[in-house]
Parts: sequence; structure tokens; C-alpha cells
Amino acid sequence: KRAKVSGRAETYQTQDFAIARAQFGMETMLRRAIEDRRLRLAYQPICDLATGRIVSFEALARWTDDEGWAHSPTDFIAVAEESGLIVPLGRWAIEEAAQTLARWDSAYGGPCGVKLAVNLSAIQLQRDAIAPVVEAALASTGLSGDRFTLELTESAIVTDPDRIAGTMHALKALGTTLAMDDFGTGYSNLAYLQKLPIDVLKIDRSFVTGMLADRDKVSIVRAILSLAQALGMKTTAEGVETNELAQTLAALGCTFGQGYFYARPLEADAAYAMIAPATMQ
Ligand code: C2E
Ligand code: CA
Ligand code: CA
Ligand code: CA
Repeated sequence: KRAKVSGRAETYQTQDFAIARAQFGMETMLRRAIEDRRLRLAYQPICDLATGRIVSFEALARWTDDEGWAHSPTDFIAVAEESGLIVPLGRWAIEEAAQTLARWDSAYGGPCGVKLAVNLSAIQLQRDAIAPVVEAALASTGLSGDRFTLELTESAIVTDPDRIAGTMHALKALGTTLAMDDFGTGYSNLAYLQKLPIDVLKIDRSFVTGMLADRDKVSIVRAILSLAQALGMKTTAEGVETNELAQTLAALGCTFGQGYFYARPLEADAAYAMIAPATMQ
């Protein structure tokens, strides 16, 4: 039911209230979902562009609420960041990803040969000590740190460079790989790239989508690739939706690709099926 409003200012007020109420409802539901461990992770392969071989999977949070509504991660991650729920959500994601990988290894009969990539939000990095959380997840599963990639965004570096540098070095000391997510969309200067232990630049999907028909996008992608190469970093292109894009990116020297051409984010079992040894019929 809609409130009848006359003035402009009143319209805004009503809308703000509706948005605030909706956010509060979402926050309450999300808090419960985290407590009850009703979030899930979906896993999307990241492939070597030259060979097509799966090298890792990115773990992406999924939430279907009590009413069966599947919320967009962009929406509920934003609510989690505003409410502080990103701290328990982020810890859960690290623990859940580690448990999944340990399960895959035991099904495989040894290390299954892929890494898992987990997203770390800037707010989470500000508010929580991540390295001890990762260390505890490694200890409880027996996995080595080199089985994990942690994806950070530039906004983390802008907000508190010294703190983030400390966290990044602590994560490297555990053996993990560090990737700069959504590269090219942040507002920071590039000086941090030489100071911080970054292994991989993830080229944001906005530069990759439509790249074959847009010379400016190709120029940006080329520039990122040569920057990464000069700094000794690897590169992952997001949003690889077609074989033609995969071929082009490989020819340009991009290391890895991720996108619907390879697979959409999958349930853990379906993801494992992509790397499981072939079974005899
Ligand atoms: P992201 O880290 O940039 O993740 C990649 C997003 O691109 C995912 O969206 C994925 O489903 C989507 N994607 C992958 N391949 C393609 C493609 O070929 N075409 C198109 N159009 N899209 C593709 P998703 O799962 O909706 O997640 C959105 C964002 O939510 C993520 O963007 C990430 O920033 C955030 N997020 C998801 N899970 C977590 C989490 O556990 N922790 C944190 N901090 N953030 C998360
Ligand atoms: Ca990511
Ligand atoms: Ca990304
Ligand atoms: Ca992105």
C-alpha cells in the first residue's frame, strides 16, 4: 500500500523511510541467516587462458531468505558492510571455503590441484584482523596457505594504507596469493602497486565486456596487462563470456580468465565435478 503524498519533500521522506525500513528488515534477516549458517558459497572457475585448465575457483556468497527470495550479493554485501555484519559474514566465508576445499581434497585422495579465492571487503579489513582468521582456518583443516587467494579492492588501500599493508604482509607470510579485485575502477593512485605484495590484478568486467567492439577498452586492457607484466604480476580477466574473448585475451598475454564462457558460479558439488578424476562407468 502506498502513502498518498502531495509535496516533493514529503515524497522523499516517505521513500527514505521505506528504504530505511526495508534495509532494517534485510539486516535483521541477514543477521539470523549468518547465525544459523544459512548462507552458501557458490564457486566459479578461474582458468588458465592458454590451456583452459581450471586453476582456482572464486567463492561467491549466496543468500536465499526465509521467503525463498535469492538476494543479489551486491545488495546484501552492502547491507553487511553498513551494519558491521560483514565481519561475521567474512569470517564465515573463509571458514566455509576452507572446509569445502578440504572436502574436495579428501574426495580427490590428495590435494585436488586448485586454489580457492575468497573476497575480502574493505570494511571487513578495517574492522577485523583477517590473518589470524585465515591462519585458524588453515590449522583446523590442515590446508596450506598456498591453496588460497584473497581478493581485495583498491578501496581497502585508500581507507587505511598502513593497516592494510600489515594485513597483506601477514597474509603473504601464511603463503596465500593476493589479488587486486576490480582493478581499474578504484580512485587510488598507482604508487601502492609497487609497495604492496600483490600477485594478481583482476581486470574489472566493465573493461572486458564489449571489448571486441571497442578500441578504447582494448587499450585499457592492454595498458593494465603491460603494467602487470612490468611489475611481475599475473592477470585475471573477469567477464569472459565467449570463446572469442578468451582467445583474444590469451593473445594479448592475459594469464587467467573467469566468466560465463567457462562456467557460472556453481554449487560446491558441481564445481568439484569439473575437476574430479574421471570415474569408470
Ligand atoms: P566480484 O568479486 O567482482 O565477483 C564477480 C562477479 O561477477 C560475481 O557476481 C559473478 O557471478 C559475476 N560474473 C562472473 N562471470 C561473469 C560473466 O561472464 N558475466 C557477468 N555479467 N557476470 C559475471 P556476484 O556473485 O553477483 O557477486 C557480486 C559481488 O559481490 C562480487 O563481485 C563481490 O564484490 C561481492 N561478493 C560476493 N561474495 C562475497 C563475499 O563472500 N565477501 C565479500 N566481501 N564480497 C562478496
Ligand atoms: Ca572478487
Ligand atoms: Ca571482481
Ligand atoms: Ca567486478
